[in-house]
Amino acid sequence: MDDCIFCKIIKGEIPSATVYEDDEFKAILDRFPANQGHVLVMPKKHIQNVFEIDPETAGRLYTLTTKIAKVMKETIGFENMNIVQNNGPVAGQTVQHFHVHLIPRYENDTVSVTWKQLELTDEQIEDMRKKLSKAII
Ligand code: 5GP
Ligand code: ZN
Repeated sequence: MDDCIFCKIIKGEIPSATVYEDDEFKAILDRFPANQGHVLVMPKKHIQNVFEIDPETAGRLYTLTTKIAKVMKETIGFENMNIVQNNGPVAGQTVQHFHVHLIPRYENDTVSVTWKQLELTDEQIEDMRKKLSKAII
């Protein structure tokens, strides 16, 4: 993808603070982090989002993400962590190249990963449950 900033980073056309890479994946520090130590893990191949990634690649990427999260906790010493992955502009994805955010959390920090909770009826929940459970194999 010619105009993808993460593809340019992966090709070395734009510098990045790389913390890990192998043939398939790259992990970098976010240039505009939510907190110190905010890491992005991405496939080197241009895959837009969860709707495009194959489950095997996603599995390997999440295995790596889990390893990096644990090393980050030992190394940085934060309290907790949010793992966030946005899919599409409406969902807040600003770079359309699949990436997982690992965001260290500290007591009383300024990070906000939250939403307003809807009040649904049991019937609405059951309608959705039926629709999804029929479709998920
Ligand atoms: P998204 O909003 O798509 O889930 O996350 C994109 C992330 O990429 C943002 O957190 C943003 O700070 C980060 N980002 C944008 N441009 C650059 C860049 O040039 N280098 C790095 N390292 N991160 C970037
Ligand atoms: Zn890309």
